[in-house]
Amino acid sequence: MLFRDINPVLADPAAFRVLTDALASGVAPGTEVLVAVEARGFLLGAAMAYAMGLGLVCVRKPGKLPAVEHRVDYALEYGTATLELPATVVRAGQRVAIVDDVLATGGTVTATKQLVEHCGARVTGVHVVFEIAALAARDRLGVPVHALLTD
Ligand code: IMP
Repeated sequence: MLFRDINPVLADPAAFRVLTDALASGVAPGTEVLVAVEARGFLLGAAMAYAMGLGLVCVRKPGKLPAVEHRVDYALEYGTATLELPATVVRAGQRVAIVDDVLATGGTVTATKQLVEHCGARVTGVHVVFEIAALAARDRLGVPVHALLTD
């Protein structure tokens, strides 16, 4: 199985900057906050948020947050996973963009979208480095997907 790895790009300052700028260029005007998924999404989302002057919300795996706004369980190929949104950081009516490294089945991004929508916020787009197109997640998400590389 092919593992899509952003680490070599993060380690190269010029490549990391190009990657950050390319991801940021796809974010819809009017987006107010980036929501990044643990853990590699944090690295990309933090760089994008700094470059764009936006806030960053970190969606976490269970047991990491001092106060949880909402929790979503979702199915993996083998088993289940859970993501949690920190309390009080996403507001009703906010426009948010979701950031992660890879879009595969879409389960992770769908759970993140549910967390955001639970707060009454709206997802303007999903921003990833890699999209596994054969899994057709973008057809099920119902929001625009911006992928730098599709295979
Ligand atoms: P999905 O929920 O099936 O869309 O899987 C996406 C999540 O799994 C993301 O949070 C990714 O970090 C991780 N993931 C899936 N495939 C890969 C891969 O090939 N490389 C790195 N991360 C992956």
